[in-house]
Amino acid sequence: MTVTDLVSYEDALASYDPVMGLEVHVELGTKTKMFCGCSTELKQDANSQTCPVCLGLPGALPVVNEIGVESAIKIGLALNCEIAEWCRFARKNYFYPDMPKNFQTSQYDEPIAYNGYLDVQLEDGEIFRVQIERAHMEEDTGKSTHVGGATGRIQGASHSLLDYNRAGIPLIEIVTKPIEGAGARAPEVAKAYVAELRELIKALGVSEARMEMGQMRCDVNLSLRPNGTETFGTRSETKNVNSLRSVERAARFEIQRHAAVLSSGGTIVQETRHFHEEDGSTTAGRIKDNAEDYRYFPEPDLVPVAPAREWVEELRRGLPELPRLRRKRLKEEWGVSEHDMQSILNAGAVDLIVATTDAGAPSDQARKWWMGELARNANETGRGLDALPITPVQVARVAELVTSGDLNDKLARQVIEGVLAGEGDPDTVVEKRGLKVVSDEGALSTAVDEAIAANAAIADKIRGGKVAAAGALVGAVMKATRGQADAARVRELILEKLGVEG
Ligand SMILES: [Zn+2]
Repeated sequence: MTVTDLVSYEDALASYDPVMGLEVHVELGTKTKMFCGCSTELKQDANSQTCPVCLGLPGALPVVNEIGVESAIKIGLALNCEIAEWCRFARKNYFYPDMPKNFQTSQYDEPIAYNGYLDVQLEDGEIFRVQIERAHMEEDTGKSTHVGGATGRIQGASHSLLDYNRAGIPLIEIVTKPIEGAGARAPEVAKAYVAELRELIKALGVSEARMEMGQMRCDVNLSLRPNGTETFGTRSETKNVNSLRSVERAARFEIQRHAAVLSSGGTIVQETRHFHEEDGSTTAGRIKDNAEDYRYFPEPDLVPVAPAREWVEELRRGLPELPRLRRKRLKEEWGVSEHDMQSILNAGAVDLIVATTDAGAPSDQARKWWMGELARNANETGRGLDALPITPVQVARVAELVTSGDLNDKLARQVIEGVLAGEGDPDTVVEKRGLKVVSDEGALSTAVDEAIAANAAIADKIRGGKVAAAGALVGAVMKATRGQADAARVRELILEKLGVEG
């Protein structure tokens, strides 16, 4: 099906009600793998971070990573889940070349966390509660690279390479209950949910949750049912969507595609789908297996996980302030609108602004620079704000120089430009580029006298009461001082010298 065969979004919603399920995989930031002591550092030669356990050699015995379990419990608690008093790992049997054991160690009917919810905030401020089915522990697979073909896919490749460095890296899979009642806002809910979950995971410190690096990826399950009916339709499962925007687009596309198939009398195939970034479409993957095809059974080589209640309660007490509540608090402290707070969040600037105010800057200055000059630079250079070569401490120093009157906004922008260009700290840039506001009254007075002399006609107008004309003289002085004068003080001096009341 091509994009043009789709039913329009509005028409799709006029007849059908979307039901979504979101499965998010989070790669934990543990130092070692889930069931062995191998390093999780990925910037290593292929297959250098492997051992008999993660290579699945006969007789090798796995051991559970305690930090992996602790991270799973933290995530479960933050998602308002119940934490199992006793649970086991299970073998999920299927063959995959990058999974050397021929089974994935996962959890099946005994997840470590279950029955929770996450409140997410939509763009208009409305809160939507997403019910959580479960969060369970499992391991990642290795990685295949197909060589010799034009596309990097297996089709046309002459051979494939396998790297098991990633095999056994701990994953937490978080599964929602069917999300109903979102209607036309289903794609927006999906995006907001993944965004909120990402913030939560980062706040817990269990993963950096960088979607562009595959540390967090989302499967979007979607089905339609005729409006007014209860029974779920057949679902498709769009795999490994790895940006917030793509999650929204994938859900939207599938709503339109399902509607096109159903309204022309066709049936939806239960299958996995691939999402394509270029045009926002999805294409068929493989026919989806049912759970029974995996022949799940309890993992006999691992002891059950039975976290002590005291430990769980200790972890609960140590939970950080939840991101949504923290944002609400900051929004009030900063005195910004819902819309501005949303922009700050979308720009990934919340933590940077907090760090800048922690370094001593007033919050309005911190916001102004991160959301203005720096956001513009990040945009132009295609980087995230946190990837810019400037620190919150440096931004705070610029703010301090502005507050003390040593810099005006124009000069401050040049200082930031210098820091970004690698010229050094703000003070070094000020020094090197000679960027200080001219506060020497003698020098200013001379510059004002010169401007008056060179613009006699304008000066006469001002004397005659046309105070508004002073702007032209201020401009002349600013130009003469290369923008390094305090414009308000210049204006005062001009009016003083011409004997006019401001
Ligand atoms: Zn290993």
